[in-house]
Amino acid sequence: MPNAKTDLLSLPPDEAEAALAEHFEARGQPSYRVRQVLTWMFEECVATIAEMTNLPAAERDALDAAFSFLEPTADTVSRSSDGTVKHLWRLADGELVESVLIPTPDRLTLCVSSQAGCAMGCTFCATGWAGFQRQLTAGEIVSQYRASRRWALDHGYGRISNIVYMGMGEPLSNREALHPSLTLLNRGYGVGARRITVSTVGVVPGILELAEREEQFRLAVSLHAPESELRSQLIPLEKRHSLEELMAALVQFDRAGGRRITFEYAMIRGINDAPHLAPQLADLASSLNAFVNLIPYNPIPYQDWKASRGQRIEEFRSVLEARGVSVAVRVPRGRDIDAACGQLRASRMASDSPPMPDSGKRLEAASAYAGKDPAETDLTNPGKRPE
Ligand code: SF4
Repeated sequence: MPNAKTDLLSLPPDEAEAALAEHFEARGQPSYRVRQVLTWMFEECVATIAEMTNLPAAERDALDAAFSFLEPTADTVSRSSDGTVKHLWRLADGELVESVLIPTPDRLTLCVSSQAGCAMGCTFCATGWAGFQRQLTAGEIVSQYRASRRWALDHGYGRISNIVYMGMGEPLSNREALHPSLTLLNRGYGVGARRITVSTVGVVPGILELAEREEQFRLAVSLHAPESELRSQLIPLEKRHSLEELMAALVQFDRAGGRRITFEYAMIRGINDAPHLAPQLADLASSLNAFVNLIPYNPIPYQDWKASRGQRIEEFRSVLEARGVSVAVRVPRGRDIDAACGQLRASRMASDSPPMPDSGKRLEAASAYAGKDPAETDLTNPGKRPE
């Protein structure tokens, strides 16, 4: 948890510069000390103030006394056979959050968490099942990048080129930390705004706020259903911000300039992959010229949904393409290390805690809406803990 000291890693670059200038001036130090510290922070990405070796020892001690500079410690590092790397980070107060490095031939993407847990309760998501613990600070978001950047360079993965806020939590429900963290990553650490994607399940006020930023941060929307009623069974937030309201906000985001929206659609067998949903999804996407990612569902602890069959996913792709929508089927990454959002943490919790309350109710509701045979999708034992 943040302590009484100013958290240096949470301050956007101009605020960090001002705070450091005041600190060194009060100590009678030359003004170039500010630049020295900023270089260690943003360019060298050191983990501790002690590593700022061109500062006199007394100045490092004084900085340490005035500012906190807390990075998480790696609780677990899991490497997939496909190169995906998941870190389970332990924060200063013991909370656990995840980040994932995803290498592809042309980029290295880091997926960061914005909250410890999540209050949104999406029925398909491991993080949603485990509930909300607390908001992360901007420094705790950014330090996932800092620590992952060092890890990637030390292990031959190269530089992180892209960042997605798709880990644990709903970033637009933590806008107090999200906005400074975006500024830090972009202006402090030099990650291009178009290489940073904020993912949301549809927090409309947050989308409108993001639209007002002058930088071209990208937006991904977890759609997962093109009909409000079905969507509300998967994403409880739909009851507060309906699909209609969400689409209106996305039109505003689109008009604000030059940023293509991505729709994420996790394909769950017998739940949201009925053939009649594909043209509806295509209509929503084409109205915004949005890109669609079809994602074979990644099973999670506590419930037994399965990914749609490959043939059904291809049918969805064909319908979308035939209607002029740009679409990709995302290849699942890191399945052998539980790399989907919240899974590693959920697996840990599943091994030492009881099933979540209401788990059966949520599954039955979604199943009933989809009008399918529970046996077909293994919903006969909802909420069962994995063996
Ligand atoms: S999908 Fe995102 S918003 Fe929904 S419960 Fe999971 S982390 Fe939260």
